[in-house]
Amino acid sequence: MPLIEYTCLDCGNRFEKLQKADAAGQAECSTCGSVNVKRELSTFSSAGSSSSAAGCFSGG
Ligand SMILES: [Zn+2]
Repeated sequence: MPLIEYTCLDCGNRFEKLQKADAAGQAECSTCGSVNVKRELSTFSSAGSSSSAAGCFSGG
């Protein structure tokens, strides 16, 4: 289970929440309890990339 990072748009508090990437998007601020939060982009979680970045192996 990945650790989803959120940022509260009300108080600006940043917090993490352990939940499935599929169920990500629903979280409440741990400080003010607001649901007006924004999910931060994780480095290990990338589903449905817009641009292709693969094929960058080091050559010679
Ligand atoms: Zn908050």
